[in-house]
Amino acid sequence: MTDSGRTEQTMAVPVLEARAVTKTFESEGVPVRALRGVDFSMGPGEFVAVMGPSGCGKSTLLNLAAGLDVPTDGEILLAGESLAGRDENDLARMRRAHIGIVFQFFNLLEGMSVLENVTLPAVIAGTRRRTAEGRARDLLDLLGLGDKARDAPAVLSGGQRQRLAIARALANEPTIVLADEPTGALDSEGGAEVLELFRRLHAGGQAILLVTHDADVARAGDRIVRMRDGRIDTSGDGDTRDPGAVPVAGATGSPG
Ligand code: ADP
Ligand code: MG
Repeated sequence: MTDSGRTEQTMAVPVLEARAVTKTFESEGVPVRALRGVDFSMGPGEFVAVMGPSGCGKSTLLNLAAGLDVPTDGEILLAGESLAGRDENDLARMRRAHIGIVFQFFNLLEGMSVLENVTLPAVIAGTRRRTAEGRARDLLDLLGLGDKARDAPAVLSGGQRQRLAIARALANEPTIVLADEPTGALDSEGGAEVLELFRRLHAGGQAILLVTHDADVARAGDRIVRMRDGRIDTSGDGDTRDPGAVPVAGATGSPG
């Protein structure tokens, strides 16, 4: 047996890379060093959980990865392409090409149907409406929301709302899904639903970067990266675990 599969994976262009990234905010004239030199890389199809206490810089890192903000120093690369020096339009283009993002509080368009919530991002990205709508329907079916297509998001449960947000994040076939505390606003059942869905998407080859303060949520990832005070904690060199051996707690449909 060779491990050529593993070699291929290792040599593939990372979907996301942070090189010596720092981010300093000014807060009432006082510098807040949110990121203090982060080096991070993840390969195609990886499911990585970044875990650390509130305020350690997780959301900041995610926002930089999404090109929603720019580093003070260092560099972010998406699919091998640097985000450095790009203007707002160019960053938006990179985002549309590579990023699907899921937030704690869903950020759904409440005045539009479930279907339109998933169709719109692709239309905005330039996909023909009929194509976009077809793909949106497929995604909703895949995510168990097919029968809700015409409803308003308001009729959905918390777990369903986050599944809808995930369907929307997938609309443009992103290189990587970024999720910021995606279960933070859900009860345990809704949270389990969402983590189970991430596991399924990952099994289908989707790269996912999830950030959370919650160790139970982080366990859904194949690799856990710990963060503290704006740095990645390399003391334990992360947790690389056998995905086959990692059941998602409570995600198998058992009640309570
Ligand atoms: P986490 O997501 O891990 O809770 P954040 O990345 O949101 O942490 O924040 C990291 C640090 O940066 C915190 O001290 C936070 O208060 C600060 N921070 C984040 N965003 C801003 C901002 N826009 N202006 C000033 N300080 C910020
Ligand atoms: Mg945060």
